[in-house]
Amino acid sequence: MNPHSIDFVDLRRQKQRLGDDLDLAIKRVMEHGNYIMGPEVLDLEQQLSGFCGVRHTLSSSNGTDALLLILMAMNVRAGDAVFCPSFTFAATAEMVALLGATPVFVDIQTHSFNMDPDSLEAAVVTARQHGLRPAGVIPVDLFGLPAEYDLLEPVCSAHRMWMLCDAAQSFGAEFHGRRVGSIGLVSATSFFPAKPLGCYGDGGAIFTNDDDLASTIKSIRVHGQGSDKYDNVRIGINGRLDTLQAAILIEKFRIFPDEIRQRNVIAARYSEKLGEIVQVPVVPPDVTSAWAQYTIRISGGRRDAVARNLKSKGIPTAVYYPKPLHQQAAYREFPIAGNGAPVSEVAASDVLSLPVHPYLTADEQDYVIESLVHELRTN
Ligand SMILES: *Cc1c(COP(=O)(O)O)cnc(C)c1O
Repeated sequence: MNPHSIDFVDLRRQKQRLGDDLDLAIKRVMEHGNYIMGPEVLDLEQQLSGFCGVRHTLSSSNGTDALLLILMAMNVRAGDAVFCPSFTFAATAEMVALLGATPVFVDIQTHSFNMDPDSLEAAVVTARQHGLRPAGVIPVDLFGLPAEYDLLEPVCSAHRMWMLCDAAQSFGAEFHGRRVGSIGLVSATSFFPAKPLGCYGDGGAIFTNDDDLASTIKSIRVHGQGSDKYDNVRIGINGRLDTLQAAILIEKFRIFPDEIRQRNVIAARYSEKLGEIVQVPVVPPDVTSAWAQYTIRISGGRRDAVARNLKSKGIPTAVYYPKPLHQQAAYREFPIAGNGAPVSEVAASDVLSLPVHPYLTADEQDYVIESLVHELRTN
């Protein structure tokens, strides 16, 4: 096999599989011409609501705007503490800070890379010491694995905080029989091309069972509109998903359950063949991952050398994330739970994500596994 054909995310093979249906879907939009809020947008929202088992799906311009729309609708403002894991993509904390509220960084669990409930308790104390009002929590389902909601929910209730799930990486996953999207007060996801369900540009969605919250978000999504387009009852943004992206997502959504199955097959195979020699991801009982990433840990400062050598053999890997948010220049001033976030710092130096897209062939995967085993034995 030609190792140079391995892509970290292979959208070309997915496009081949989608075939003419995708081209026809795009053509239909070009013909009806309703590029903004065309019929495909509502159709997609209804399909996603059915899939997640929620009353409302509101598509959005991207995952970051999904978070912003939700936080605006909940009137998050200066003086509010919003708890975010430090080991995540910046957007999680960024929208909190943008609204003038304070992201308070929480450490992660070693085994899951997700928010540590004990660190969250410590962070609530830290926030109060800073004179902030604990308002809400944004757990992130990092790499596609749902956070430990059964432990996080009681902490939220005890302190009367809302929970907004950042499900940007976990659409399609389940936690104790609940689909991602139906957990917490409200959830946000992303359809960025490389996410488990991606479009061909920017896109995102919000899921909730709360009727009032949904109607406020709907208004904010179109400049705070009231009874019609030129009635503005609040400050909003332009946060809509394009009709073309909705049409593309409808086609991709047809094959999505099969793609998630395929990601699980590939992840299981990695774990079986690598579990003895390197630290592989742990999925707890009664939880499934969407496998946005398959992330191993290579400790002892060897990670970057292993990644470099794999790259020279045509094997793409990625480091999500090389620096936790509490150490980033833009976020250094914000409070950190208790005595800091040491687990996030170790993770940043150890993590390495391997190709896990649904179109990775068994031969390609064997080549990745053999090369990695060789690196780990000789490095
Ligand atoms: C991708 C991502 C986002 C933002 O989504 P965009 O669509 O890129 O704006 C937010 N949070 C997390 C955890 C993400 O991975």
